[in-house]
Amino acid sequence: MNRKVIIITGAAGGIGKATVKAFTELGAYVTLVDLRLVLVEKTAKELQLDPEKYLACGCDVSNSSLVNACVKATYDKWGKIDVLFSNAGISSQSKLLVDLTDADIDNNINVCLKGNFYFFRAVLPYMIAQRNGSIIATSSVGALRSHELMAEYSATKAGIIGLVNAAAVENAKYNIRVNAIYPGGIQTKMIAPFEFVNGITDDNREEKLKQLIPIGRYGQPEDVAELVLFLASEASRNITGEAIRCDGGEYLF
Ligand code: NAD
Repeated sequence: MNRKVIIITGAAGGIGKATVKAFTELGAYVTLVDLRLVLVEKTAKELQLDPEKYLACGCDVSNSSLVNACVKATYDKWGKIDVLFSNAGISSQSKLLVDLTDADIDNNINVCLKGNFYFFRAVLPYMIAQRNGSIIATSSVGALRSHELMAEYSATKAGIIGLVNAAAVENAKYNIRVNAIYPGGIQTKMIAPFEFVNGITDDNREEKLKQLIPIGRYGQPEDVAELVLFLASEASRNITGEAIRCDGGEYLF
C-alpha cells in the first residue's frame, strides 16, 4: 500500500480508524472523512499520523456537494485516488417497522445508501481516467438476515449490495473493482443496539455470544481492516462485484 491514496469514510469510528491505521502503517496516504473535522483531527492525533500523509475532511456523506469537494481535495493533494473505503454508517433506531417515522427512514437512506452513491459517483471519474481503482463498501450481515427492530438498516445495507454490483459491472472494463464487506458483530460504538436486540447482558455474555457467533467472540475492527487491505490490494485482482462476510460465522446460525 506504499504511496497508495485511499479515502476512508467513517474514519473516526471503530472500523474506520482501524483501517486508517492499517493503511498508514503500510505507507498509504489517507483522506479521513467523518461528520466533523474535530473528530477527524482527534483520530489523526491519536494515531500520530504524519501531517504530510493525511488529509482531514469534515464531511456529511449525505451532502453531495461536500462529498464532491472532499474527493476533489484528495485528488488535488495527491494527483490520484487508488482506493475508496465507503464505510460511514449509522445504526437503526431500534424501532419496529410500523413505528418508524419518515425522518427515521430518510435519515438511514441518506447516510447509509445515498452516502455510498455520492462517494462512488465522485471517485469514479478519477478512477476511470487513471484506469485503475478499488472501491470497498461496508454493508452488514443485517442485509442478509434481519432481526426485529432494524428494518431501515437492513434495507439500506441490502441496497449497498445492488449498488456495488452495478458499479462493478459498469466499471470492470476500466480496471476498477468494486466489492462489499458484510461485518457481523464488530466491537465498536455501534454494537450496543445489537446487544440489546439479542438480549446480551454482562452476566450471560460469553454463553450468549457463543450461541450467536460460532467463533465465540465479537469481531474486532482490525478483522475488517485486514479484509479491506486484501480487497484494495493486487492479491484480490480477480475479485469484483463480490461481498464477503466478516462475521465469525454469525450468519450460519
Ligand atoms: P462507529 O459508530 O464506530 O463508526 C461509524 C462512523 O461513521 C462514526 O465515526 C460516525 O461519526 C460516522 N458517520 C455517521 N454518519 C455520518 C455521516 N452522515 N457522514 C460522515 N460520517 C458519518 O461504527 P462502526 O462499527 O465502525 O461502523 C462502520 C460501518 O460498519 C458502518 O457502516 C456500520 O453500519 C457497519 N457495520 C458495523 C457493525 C458492527 O457490529 N459494529 C456490523 C455491521 C456493519
